[in-house]
Amino acid sequence: MLKIECVVCGALEENAYIVERDGQAGAFCIDPGDDYAALARALAGRSLEVICLTHAHYDHMLAAPGLIADTGAKLYASAKDIPALNDARLNLYNAAWSRLPAPQGLKALAYGETLTVCGVKLDVLPTPGHTPGGVCLYAKDEGVLFSGDTLFCAGYGRVDFPGSNAADMRQSLLKLFALPGETRVLPGHGEETTIARERARYQL
Ligand SMILES: [Zn+2]
Repeated sequence: MLKIECVVCGALEENAYIVERDGQAGAFCIDPGDDYAALARALAGRSLEVICLTHAHYDHMLAAPGLIADTGAKLYASAKDIPALNDARLNLYNAAWSRLPAPQGLKALAYGETLTVCGVKLDVLPTPGHTPGGVCLYAKDEGVLFSGDTLFCAGYGRVDFPGSNAADMRQSLLKLFALPGETRVLPGHGEETTIARERARYQL
């Protein structure tokens, strides 16, 4: 059984997910947003093994340096978004993040690879468009998609940022809409939805 806790962080209300599997040691976090204190509280007593980023926008990673310093968790980020980690123009932040050294233990995620993190299998689905290297993390066996800022409930990610691409976003949405309709979609902002509910809104 997968346990997923959503912690809503920061002024932009980004969703950070803390995920663990019953009977497995350790937890991982997807997109630790701008509320280190809330995430540290939510993790209390659990060992954080890995932080996965769906994309390298500041609002989804501001708590990462603090959590890594506390726990030694490894940081996983899409290879194509790694240049944005320390580039304030690309990650939309200011110099505070851009001055940080590259995190230790950074793992570059390749499009299409399958990870096993804390006993949970995650397919790294390439979903560029919002950022050049955006990914969705798909726990196929659990029927759960962590969709970052690609697909929301009643919306999709902005494509007017540096590195965004509207044509890529369209292709990424088409790929997601080919997943089973009952797939739970856990987005980077806003409420949970399903592939079927979102697919029905569009004529792509
Ligand atoms: Zn974003």
